Amino acid sequence: MPGVTEQLEFQAETHQLLELMIHSVYSNKDTFLRELISNASDALDKLKLAAYQDKDLTADTSDLHIEIDVDPEARTLTVRDNGIGMSRAEVVDLIGTLAKSGTAELRRKLTEAKSEAAAEELIGQFGIGFYSTFMVADKVELLTRKAGETEGTRWEAAAGSSTYTIETVADAPQGTTVTLHLKPADPDDHLFDYTLEWKLREIVRKYSDFIAWPIRMNVERTVTEGEGEDKVEKTIVEEQVLNSQKALWTRPRGEVSDEEYTEFYHHVSHAWDTPLEIIPMKAEGTFEYQALLFIPSTAPFDLFTREHKRGVQLYVRRVFIMDNCEELMPEYLRFVKGVVDAQDLSLNVSREILQQDRQIQMIRKRLVRKVLSTIKDIQGAEDQTKYETFWSQFGRVLKEGLLSDADNRETILAVSSFASTASDSELTTLAGYVERMPEGQDAIYYMTGESRAQVENSPHLEAFKAKGREVLILTDPVDEMWVSSVTDFEGKPFKSIAKGEVDLETEDEKKETEALREQQDKDFGDLLKWLGTTLDDVAKEVRLTNRLTTSPACLVGDVFDFTPMLERMYRASGQALPEQKRILELNPTHPLVTGLRDSYDARKSDADAGKVPELAEAAELLYGTAVLAEGGELKDPARFAQLLTERLTRTV
Ligand code: ADP
Ligand code: MG
Repeated sequence: MPGVTEQLEFQAETHQLLELMIHSVYSNKDTFLRELISNASDALDKLKLAAYQDKDLTADTSDLHIEIDVDPEARTLTVRDNGIGMSRAEVVDLIGTLAKSGTAELRRKLTEAKSEAAAEELIGQFGIGFYSTFMVADKVELLTRKAGETEGTRWEAAAGSSTYTIETVADAPQGTTVTLHLKPADPDDHLFDYTLEWKLREIVRKYSDFIAWPIRMNVERTVTEGEGEDKVEKTIVEEQVLNSQKALWTRPRGEVSDEEYTEFYHHVSHAWDTPLEIIPMKAEGTFEYQALLFIPSTAPFDLFTREHKRGVQLYVRRVFIMDNCEELMPEYLRFVKGVVDAQDLSLNVSREILQQDRQIQMIRKRLVRKVLSTIKDIQGAEDQTKYETFWSQFGRVLKEGLLSDADNRETILAVSSFASTASDSELTTLAGYVERMPEGQDAIYYMTGESRAQVENSPHLEAFKAKGREVLILTDPVDEMWVSSVTDFEGKPFKSIAKGEVDLETEDEKKETEALREQQDKDFGDLLKWLGTTLDDVAKEVRLTNRLTTSPACLVGDVFDFTPMLERMYRASGQALPEQKRILELNPTHPLVTGLRDSYDARKSDADAGKVPELAEAAELLYGTAVLAEGGELKDPARFAQLLTERLTRTV
């Protein structure tokens, strides 16, 4: 209903953001204009496409443009577009709340941020779009009408207020007009007066030159009229277009500066960092397309959430078709941003068509190969800083490709790096690992776990440490997944040290061990049998091992068993799993194990008849410590603590 003004509360974190913006000493206030222009440009793209797809849409698309208006007296700055506009509900949704992907994550981090400076840095990384206007304005008004609708919406918020007002208005021009009531000019700082023509001109040229729509502004110009005596100077107002409108991806690499590329990247990705790599591509022939891709230098907050949506934009012959064209970039390269402009697609192309389209599939294949080869180049560079940045930000995502992209598996393995027991701080490539493999070792050893410390303290590692064998330490959740499906790297099989039997011995050592085994089986045979029965609920087998040197016991899985971490991941995702029993392995040289055997041997028949509870408890404790040693969780920690306390009481 026109005329009724409603006052609504900002969502808590939106208000918090606003506060931060108002007090911001954010180093680059100029960027607010880029954000407004970027939104306007998106709105024009959307309208053009909507009008194309819906012939009945009542919207004027004859002169799509952006306009900047300044009133120095009133100190207002207006950015207007005649694009798609917003409905009232959309204004509440998109402007009133922080309807951004990754909001939850930002909110969490903002509450955690100790200082204002830390919060600002976060905002800098996150990007704040529309709200950046509050860096320079005391009050912001927005008037909008959605294409096809008759009524418009007026929205207004003052800096520092926790509420905004919203009102339906009878007549509003199609599109969106944002008016900033600028903060008072700082007499000491002319650089930040956004009513100055040269200032606005400079910002547009710097940040928004490539915008495909004309950005117009009325400028005053002094002209001289008449001759000699009659000569008079007159000030006329003239409309000028401030941007060159050249699509960046159509220009040769050498002609475009890194700064221009960076600003374009900011526009397409809605991110604020400097890209790590700029990848221009051009293909002629059967499938003609141009692409301009970016590898960011900072991972967005929402890289691992479902909300994440910005990726590669699809254009057809310069016309924007869609954001985040999933058909052009696989999930595991979702961090890649940019634009693909295809020549031979219909403007009417839909998601369904894209999924089937052979041309798109071909383009995607080439893009993927190009991105991977770029990563390979970064990795091969003398200076490793870029690669290290890349890997720390996106390594976890890239490794998802080991599962989903069998065609490029070798390449992904080759550009991946891993923590390893060979170094506390440096990562290793698989090629590096293989190069260090001693004679006689034929597998790449790894262990998965939740943290480096947990893996390093694991009993499984003992024999490998003793033998000086390198083990890869895999602690990303995705590692658990790919190791179960990738069998080898250049013919060298991956082998978990926490599964199955380990074999680190030479032929001679093996013979010795075998003899020892026989003896031990004789010595420990009865104990193992008894333990097998006593621990039947939790262990599927009890056996001796030579993989331990200092621990009394450890748990191992069969080759195809789930690891404890994978089990937890499945449970956490709500999937039901049957209880898994694992194998309990004992160290026959450990005094606890030999002691247990001696006690058992002395009271065999009573123990077998279940009449020696302290022995059964010792077995339980032994099993429990093995669970704890691998970072696992006890089923009944209270009982374990109680048994342990009783034991300690008896010995102190
Ligand atoms: P982002 O552009 O990254 O989504 P913004 O804060 O800049 O974040 O804008 C939030 C949303 O508000 C946009 O996604 C868009 O849907 C809407 N919006 C902003 N400005 C305009 C505009 N000029 N025309 C239409 N919609 C707009
Ligand atoms: Mg925006």
